[in-house]
Amino acid sequence: MHTDPSCVFCKIVAGQIPSRKLYEDDEFLAFHDIAPWAPVHFLIIPKAHWVSMADLSPAQEAMMGRLMMLAPRLALEAGCRPGPEGGFRMVCNTGAEGGQEVLHLHWHVMGGPRPWARG
Ligand code: AMP
Ligand code: ZN
Repeated sequence: MHTDPSCVFCKIVAGQIPSRKLYEDDEFLAFHDIAPWAPVHFLIIPKAHWVSMADLSPAQEAMMGRLMMLAPRLALEAGCRPGPEGGFRMVCNTGAEGGQEVLHLHWHVMGGPRPWARG
């Protein structure tokens, strides 16, 4: 598995930095965002160090499919209400101009009653 010892999210995966975990399996980790925009705001990351969506190849197609299937389940478990009146937002900032600050692939999942702090 790719890891980068200087990466903050790889350190979370390794347990070297604490996080409020929501979910973990062999492939993914989900934890609450440290600076939430919304009443529910967590991140889903592959445990392997991929920089961003732009770093992926067709070999990661199935992994991305599994991540997308996991997200709605975790959103409900984290307190998002079912749609259509509930729901959630998924965001994947990619690259500097995409607003990406942490260079380890992550999806934001945000939801809960509005107004939100941001967004
Ligand atoms: P971005 O790279 O802009 O998509 O966002 C990175 C996100 O990671 C931000 O929303 C941060 O609040 C969040 N973040 C950074 N460090 C931590 C951490 N140690 N634990 C939880 N969330 C973090
Ligand atoms: Zn990493």
